[in-house]
Amino acid sequence: MKIFYDAIIIGAGVNGLTQAAALMHAGFRIAIIDQAQANTDLSKGYDLRIYAINHYTQQCLAQWGIWQNLDAKRITTYHQVNLAFHTDTPSLYLDAHDDHEANLGHIVEQKNWRNAAIEALESSELCDFYWQSTLEGISWVEDEAQKYVSLTLNPHQTLHAQLLIGADGIQSKVRTLCDIPLKQFPTKQTALIFNIHIEHSHHFEARQYFCPQGIIAFLPLADAHHYSMVWSIPDDQLWIKDLPDEALASELQNICHRQWGEIKVISTRQAFPLIQRQAQRYIAPHIALIGDAAHVIHPLAGQGANLGVADAAELTQQLCRARTQHRALGSLSVLRAYERARRSAAWQMMGLMDIFQKLAENRFMQKASMATIPWVNKLTPIKNILTRFALYDFTK
Ligand SMILES: Cc1cc2nc3c(=O)[nH]c(=O)nc-3n(C[C@H](O)[C@H](O)[C@H](O)COP(=O)(O)OP(=O)(O)OC[C@H]3O[C@@H](n4cnc5c(N)ncnc54)[C@H](O)[C@@H]3O)c2cc1C
Repeated sequence: MKIFYDAIIIGAGVNGLTQAAALMHAGFRIAIIDQAQANTDLSKGYDLRIYAINHYTQQCLAQWGIWQNLDAKRITTYHQVNLAFHTDTPSLYLDAHDDHEANLGHIVEQKNWRNAAIEALESSELCDFYWQSTLEGISWVEDEAQKYVSLTLNPHQTLHAQLLIGADGIQSKVRTLCDIPLKQFPTKQTALIFNIHIEHSHHFEARQYFCPQGIIAFLPLADAHHYSMVWSIPDDQLWIKDLPDEALASELQNICHRQWGEIKVISTRQAFPLIQRQAQRYIAPHIALIGDAAHVIHPLAGQGANLGVADAAELTQQLCRARTQHRALGSLSVLRAYERARRSAAWQMMGLMDIFQKLAENRFMQKASMATIPWVNKLTPIKNILTRFALYDFTK
């Protein structure tokens, strides 16, 4: 007997799972496939992969039943972002209260987000999981009744759906099998991620330094003595990546002027070459790409997964509209509206990241910031515009 779904999602990363929850919430019958096993163990300290998530993402997660399932003790709510264009210059303080916001966002570990989404999906009969299954091939079928896609998986299994959603990350197999080309923009930087313990409380403040050693983000974890670090290291400073733990901590001490007392590196590290990428098309007949399969942006503003959640929201909205109008879910006319909305949003974000990165590398900007930041700190309306950028919320 044929196993047939409204939509099949390849990839149970945060974006694939969130897309699944959105479609399930809208009443679609779905399957989610991942080559890995569900990893649900939160007991081994803080995850290395964390996400700063904006207000829109939080609202979506709440609407689709994920936010309620998060382990609340492990979520950080942050109220202040402190940006410095050089370690010796004054910093720019963005404060949620200045803009009458309750907070500037939340920090959530990848495992916490994935666990919460899996719990929401497992509670429904509308969703089937295929763990440890890899996508091998896609064929497009047209029979008397309808057009659809058939997928072959390894271990062998054949599934059918009106729509296949590629949420399979940077090396997307869905994108490759559909011959969708990529535009790539290397940034000449490598991101290094690790966690640190600090002696004094971080007071739930996120901090980012733009300095010759790179762009260094301190992201507060739920316990006031832990930071998650994202250090975007320029190619000519890559020696930093291989420093022993004590030397890496001491490099950080110099940058932050021992602000939090002793620093200890308490985790392993992961390094990622940073390349901004955009799929030239987000769609093909019966196919849509979302998340990193469609676009990869510089992590300096922590917006990659947020963009993926906005993709999921837009695609769900278009599919609901198609269902109401009795149109085929996988038809190009339905999918084009999704692509139009989301490709331009990703382009804008990539352009913005490129500008920020170039400004950060510019010596003149570093000097200018020293002179202007004390004034900007006193100008609430200008700071509120910058806060909207930090929240990626230009609609308010
Ligand atoms: C250093 C760094 C810091 C970041 N910080 C932030 C941040 O603070 N906030 C933010 O919003 N974003 C951030 N991002 C971006 C964010 O990490 C990504 O945008 C996000 O993780 C992408 O999620 P995804 O679900 O699209 O893809 P992925 O997380 O890559 O998931 C893809 C899934 O697909 C599965 N898969 C792949 N191929 C197959 C196949 N053939 N068959 C079956 N399964 C398959 C994989 O196993 C995986 O589970 C950061 C990125 C970096 C590099």
